[in-house]
Amino acid sequence: MVEQHATSVCPGEVETIDLLAGLGRVLAEGILADRDFPPFARATRDGYAVRAADLALVPAWLEVVDEVKAGDWPEPGVCSVGRGQAVGIMTGAPLPAGADAVVMVEYTSLLADQLARSPAGKLAEVRRGVSVGENFVPRGAEARAGQLLLDRGRRLDHAGIAIAASVGKSRVQVFRKPRVAVLSTGDEVVEIDATPGPAQIRNSNSYSLAAQVQNTGGEAVRLAIAPDERGRLRALIEEGLGCDLLLLTGGVSMGKYDLVEQVLGELKAELYFTGAEIQPGRPVVFGSCGDGSSTRSGRVGDPPPHKKYFFGLPGNPVSTMVTFELFARPMIEALAGMTPQPLIFLSARLKAEIRTKTGLKRFLPAVLSGEFENAEVELARWQGSGDIAALARANCYIVIPPDRERIEAGEWVSLLMR
Ligand code: AMP
Ligand code: MG
Repeated sequence: MVEQHATSVCPGEVETIDLLAGLGRVLAEGILADRDFPPFARATRDGYAVRAADLALVPAWLEVVDEVKAGDWPEPGVCSVGRGQAVGIMTGAPLPAGADAVVMVEYTSLLADQLARSPAGKLAEVRRGVSVGENFVPRGAEARAGQLLLDRGRRLDHAGIAIAASVGKSRVQVFRKPRVAVLSTGDEVVEIDATPGPAQIRNSNSYSLAAQVQNTGGEAVRLAIAPDERGRLRALIEEGLGCDLLLLTGGVSMGKYDLVEQVLGELKAELYFTGAEIQPGRPVVFGSCGDGSSTRSGRVGDPPPHKKYFFGLPGNPVSTMVTFELFARPMIEALAGMTPQPLIFLSARLKAEIRTKTGLKRFLPAVLSGEFENAEVELARWQGSGDIAALARANCYIVIPPDRERIEAGEWVSLLMR
């Protein structure tokens, strides 16, 4: 089934998959309540279904006339609560007719009924009053039949899966994952199963980016490494533009062999920004190429031609990761059909003073420790944005505003989680 999705950046084809396979996927349909939630007035405590008015004076003695367990249906007329009566009830069971509250079992004692008046032959002594509506959820109070529970564009997490399961959706319609090409550049970069020469380094960026892409709900397409040579770089960039998005890494700083911008110029790329006032990640580039028509077959049912977007991310591994989170992630989410999500910033108390230069917003690898109100954070030891090993010690980045030279121990700082 192919359906056009109304975003300006992505042809959102739709597929129908098993619910659990939908974890991390983006809903292409709204999920509706198939009936009232709860479908009956549901007890939230073990105890007795009562009439609150009968407990205006306590202690009170109520005649126990029946019992409802979870899964039982108290047929009105057969099982109901009259004046001076109570029905034993378990958590999750339907409230019998006539009752307007549940009193918790902790405030009651069961006494044998000396006169053996009731079918159950018991009296309950109740030591606490209840208000009308206490300890049960009225039918439909959580959601009404037909009500939208999960919107189209919502990425399914475990809670979304629980909601879909609760309305009987064993299969869900999701958008096709956007294909995101990952292209590493640089003569010094070699494949990870090669033995690097003395001046070479392994291509970790294609792997970190592929992992971040998948984590964001995209499908990563790792291309061959592009050498610092125009012809080959151009061929690989053109290959990458066949995907929904292209992520280039390396070659976007100001070095003599940083050819990415030159080749993009040859391809008549439109650049929306070249550089951001951040560190790491300052040389990040964002743009688009063409209207996409040359890469489309034009067959009926094919998505319409549209622009292909790309990011040129800096080659330093930590810069690559940070710029992905700040810039590429929201774009991939949009391509995936997702409703835009804000970045999540936590905050914690700074353990030790930080001094830095002003002018750029900084994202510095850091260690968050402690829990709840005792959370605190300190900088990880690192050698700058090429230091991958520092990321093994860090679990977040401290965000330093561009106008701060010094942040004192004990101040609250924002964290970008990774
Ligand atoms: P560049 O942005 O090309 O100037 O590269 C900046 C730094 O990142 C250099 O030290 C590169 O060797 C390193 N680098 C570039 N590409 C990669 C890659 N794919 N994997 C790991 N490090 C890289
Ligand atoms: Mg380079």
